[in-house]
Amino acid sequence: MNRDFRQTIIAGNWKMNMLASGAGAYAGALLPKAEGFNKWCETVVCAPFPLLPAVVDAFKGSNVSVGAQNMSEQESGAFTGEVSSSMLTDIGVKYVIIGHSERRALYGETDDTVNKKTLAALNASLKPIVCVGETLEQREMGITFDLVALQVKAALYGVTEGMMCNVVIAYEPVWAIGTGKTATPEDAQDVCKAIRAVIGGIYGDNVAKATSVLYGGSMNDKNAADLLAMPDIDGGLIGGASLKPDSFSVIINAANQ
Ligand code: PEP
Repeated sequence: MNRDFRQTIIAGNWKMNMLASGAGAYAGALLPKAEGFNKWCETVVCAPFPLLPAVVDAFKGSNVSVGAQNMSEQESGAFTGEVSSSMLTDIGVKYVIIGHSERRALYGETDDTVNKKTLAALNASLKPIVCVGETLEQREMGITFDLVALQVKAALYGVTEGMMCNVVIAYEPVWAIGTGKTATPEDAQDVCKAIRAVIGGIYGDNVAKATSVLYGGSMNDKNAADLLAMPDIDGGLIGGASLKPDSFSVIINAANQ
């Protein structure tokens, strides 16, 4: 983390878990546990669409922001089953995860889709958490840095320097998501640093320094402090460990040290 230049962010990704009826109990358990809550870091809870109003309500008056896990690149119209950016902002959602590897692998999202959704989110004043990362096969082939650089460049195509203050990048090695295998702090640091260099190459050093780059992939209450100690890891995108207020609060507190 480097708090002199950029925001530390701990974002939970509930994936397709939890119920609206459990939002109040979750917030009630999390808020008292996270000491010095958000002294230094922004905390975000990214919930499934139908749960969002209940989660916004549950965290009203706290420092926790609410995020969605996906959105349409379209503004409105005949797109059955889709959810637009304005539907999200209208109910108080501030962040949106874009291009999670599960969306890329299971729902055919491409770098082009990710770019369109990133632009649509920014145009609607939502903060996109743009996910990039390599598969195990790609890591073994030695193309991690090239691939991640390409994903970042493609996601940011057409994003202006002025918009970059609202962009968050999450480096999520696919082999580490939901597997219990975490990247070593050093390996995660190397890729996050490389991502910052790519951003610097497009927008210059000041924007690169100010952009939050998160790590995601089996981050938990045991390994968070070591990962967050790395200079280019500005927080985490946390799946499984965000479902339990006990473990999520330990991660939040590690980011507030
Ligand atoms: C994620 O959903 O983005 C994620 C990193 O999941 P997990 O923490 O469970 O690996």
